[in-house]
Amino acid sequence: MRVTRLVDLSVPVDAGTQVFPGDPVFTSRPHATVAADGFAVQAISMGSQTGTHVDAPCHFDPDGARIDELDLALFAGPGLVLDVRGRAPRSRLTWADLGEPDVGPGTVVLLRTGWSAHYGTPAYFDHPFLDADAARRLLDAGVRTIGLDAPNLDVTPTDDDPGEGYPVHHLVAAAGGVICENLTALEAVDFPDPFVSLLPLRLTGADGAPVRAVAIELAP
Ligand SMILES: [Zn+2]
Repeated sequence: MRVTRLVDLSVPVDAGTQVFPGDPVFTSRPHATVAADGFAVQAISMGSQTGTHVDAPCHFDPDGARIDELDLALFAGPGLVLDVRGRAPRSRLTWADLGEPDVGPGTVVLLRTGWSAHYGTPAYFDHPFLDADAARRLLDAGVRTIGLDAPNLDVTPTDDDPGEGYPVHHLVAAAGGVICENLTALEAVDFPDPFVSLLPLRLTGADGAPVRAVAIELAP
């Protein structure tokens, strides 16, 4: 087995990282410097859901698993990118919109909404979102890992639209699954049979964690 390509599906993590409204912003300051101490160390502060990250079930279900309690198999596997671009802002992605995909246990389903083009602007939060029935069908088929190139798998509440109460997050959490948000560069996954890795930091007791998301092309 040989890796022929690694595609970075993660956004940069720095002071400019766009966070969910109200979430902590990323900060970093020198804790030690080569000039003063002979080595460099940064002191970092950030939310558990900053940048490209995964949600653990306890993000919405207090009794759900913490990020460090989950089977690592949830975070890596054969990826299936579903092209759902060209939708209107805040539009619902139904099972038909997904193309009624043939998926099974272990498939890492990635929704390519194209909304990462709006990353860094207010329009990023007017992303398409997954319909609860479509989520149920993916879960019924055995899928436990769903990601997308947008900040939220459910519709993001605004002043004008209170949203729906995060039904898809609750469904995925109840099934013991995980959600990966703020993916980018899904257009670069233009080869067959990508292997996708979304391994989170081993943050004890956390509701989620940043990931360095990658799609890997393997030589046959
Ligand atoms: Zn999240």
